[in-house]
Amino acid sequence: MRRALMILAASGSMAALPACEHNAATGRNQFILMSWDQEIALGSEAMSGLSSEYGGRVSDSGLNNYVEVLGQHLASFTTEQVPEGLPWEFTLLDSDVVNAFALPGGKVFFSRGLAEQLTDEAQMALVLGHEIGHVTARHGAERISHALAVQGIMIGAAVAAGASEDDSWIGQALPLVVGLAGQGYLLKFNRDQEAEADRLGLRYMVEAGYDPAAIFDVMNVLAAATKGGLPPEFLSTHPHPETRIEQGRRLIASEYAFTQNNPRYMRQKYRYERDFLDRAALLPPPPDRQTRINLAEPSTWCWHCAGGGE
Ligand SMILES: [Zn+2]
Repeated sequence: MRRALMILAASGSMAALPACEHNAATGRNQFILMSWDQEIALGSEAMSGLSSEYGGRVSDSGLNNYVEVLGQHLASFTTEQVPEGLPWEFTLLDSDVVNAFALPGGKVFFSRGLAEQLTDEAQMALVLGHEIGHVTARHGAERISHALAVQGIMIGAAVAAGASEDDSWIGQALPLVVGLAGQGYLLKFNRDQEAEADRLGLRYMVEAGYDPAAIFDVMNVLAAATKGGLPPEFLSTHPHPETRIEQGRRLIASEYAFTQNNPRYMRQKYRYERDFLDRAALLPPPPDRQTRINLAEPSTWCWHCAGGGE
């Protein structure tokens, strides 16, 4: 961070850059070199390539709609935290990989492989809430800003002015968002960002009337999915599910204690089975089901997001 600031200062553009911004979702100040408009442009630019890499949107529009409607409902609790009219979009990908991720500016993706392992709507709401949290907390922009500044890359006058007309900077920022094609290594978030997204996810799901204890089921699914096939460095540099479970346990025992044994906070198990799982069972297998068996796919929901060595 200090080095990044020195580079910026040396470049003489320090004063012109929108560097430190207060985030309405998290309440903390963060180092951000881009405007919301630029985040939205970046997310839109990365969206189609990313989607097709993960099998594209599922063919059943009703299933995609289930995710879209739930996502939009959760996102409706963020209106005070993001610019008006942020183009949220939720996509159910036809992939067997167990994953969910978010691009800057409101594009959220959910894999069929993960959705089919969940057993109620509250679990899906938690995962969607977590991804929405990455967007409202501007983790993508924060991460890109750090990376670009450390590399001494100035995104140019367009960023300094907060303008989105000149999109030449996208060429420099895009690889940081999409990462290594086919590896599932998207924008890498660090542990603090993951913990923050978990906290925001719990907040949004509770506001939407779901039982936050669903986090324990989700973590179990993820722990089972990451068993086997993981390289040691993966284990050593990525956040342990136990840490995330512990944070969830703490919050549910304190801030969200009122939700427990409270019928207002639901799981919606029957609806999830009837409107999602039963319907998903009718779809042909995802195109990557065969490859996944051979690859021992290590990528799991925001597991791989934790940046090694940063
Ligand atoms: Zn995450």
